[in-house]
Amino acid sequence: MNTEALNSLLTYTHLIKSKALDLGFDACGISRAGRLEDDSERLRSWLDSGYHGTMEYMANHFEKRVNPAELVEGARSVVSVLLNYHTNLKQVDSQAPVISSYALGKDYHFVLKERLLKLLAYIQTDLAPCEGRVFTDSAPLLEKALAKEAGLGWIGKHSLLIHPQMGSFLFIGELVLDLELTYDEPFGNSLCGSCSRCMDSCPTSAIIAPSLLDANKCISYLTIETKIDIPEALTSRLSSRLVGCDICQQVCPWNSKAKQNDVPEFRPKPELLKMTALEWQNLDRSTFKRLFKGSAVERTGFARMKRTLNHLFNDK
Ligand code: SF4
Ligand code: SF4
Repeated sequence: MNTEALNSLLTYTHLIKSKALDLGFDACGISRAGRLEDDSERLRSWLDSGYHGTMEYMANHFEKRVNPAELVEGARSVVSVLLNYHTNLKQVDSQAPVISSYALGKDYHFVLKERLLKLLAYIQTDLAPCEGRVFTDSAPLLEKALAKEAGLGWIGKHSLLIHPQMGSFLFIGELVLDLELTYDEPFGNSLCGSCSRCMDSCPTSAIIAPSLLDANKCISYLTIETKIDIPEALTSRLSSRLVGCDICQQVCPWNSKAKQNDVPEFRPKPELLKMTALEWQNLDRSTFKRLFKGSAVERTGFARMKRTLNHLFNDK
């Protein structure tokens, strides 16, 4: 590659990262679009063990999931972005069923997608003609592995990405481009060390080995994902979690200094934070709609929430 071409790559890369931060993302890294060999083996073994539960979609489109180049013709680069959703805001009634912090505000899919589309438009209009697609947890991609490849952090023993400054309360999004760029070094080894707080604190023992999660036991999966009823052995171990479960993240020392998010769309509705235990117990469909319209919980649906509420209030 001649010097002029290399300078263009460096300039584009710098401008893309700088624009991502201008758009409000907290971090941006870039990796080469290619097959994630190690991660594909890990995913295959995880699926073969049935740890994905009823999430059949995890097994679909396996090649696309492990290779972003299968998603965009001629893909060369994956731009990974992080958006912090950490908050210290708490529900007022300490006895109320707990809503995971990712679900307190507007649906993150919309928030990330809007910003990623602006980033794509900027690249296409101001930098170079290219094709690309945005992904926000909505397509088969190994987002955490891609973020690690882009140097943004490591996969903790709780199976989530940890950024060394921001911790793990992070949404991840990607832009897959057919544009050549310069690439970050993948993040090195895990910085978890001898810590095992997440594993020791998980109420359902869902983390069966470092970075190996059995979704069948995970409260997030049980309260958000699966349509089957929660297994009897686990209903008394939900730890008051109504939507999702942040316990393994809350105990993680890398989150102890995480800054609060400043995303206006993630601000919770005051009514949601003020709901009392009694009001949750008597939740009706119209209140559910009012509380969760436009939030990620809308998709979980009223029926599934009522099912979990029944367990929380009746299976103690
Ligand atoms: S989200 Fe909750 S249930 Fe799932 S692994 Fe973490 S602590 Fe365990
Ligand atoms: S709690 Fe400890 S072991 Fe778990 S992810 Fe955090 S640092 Fe790693």
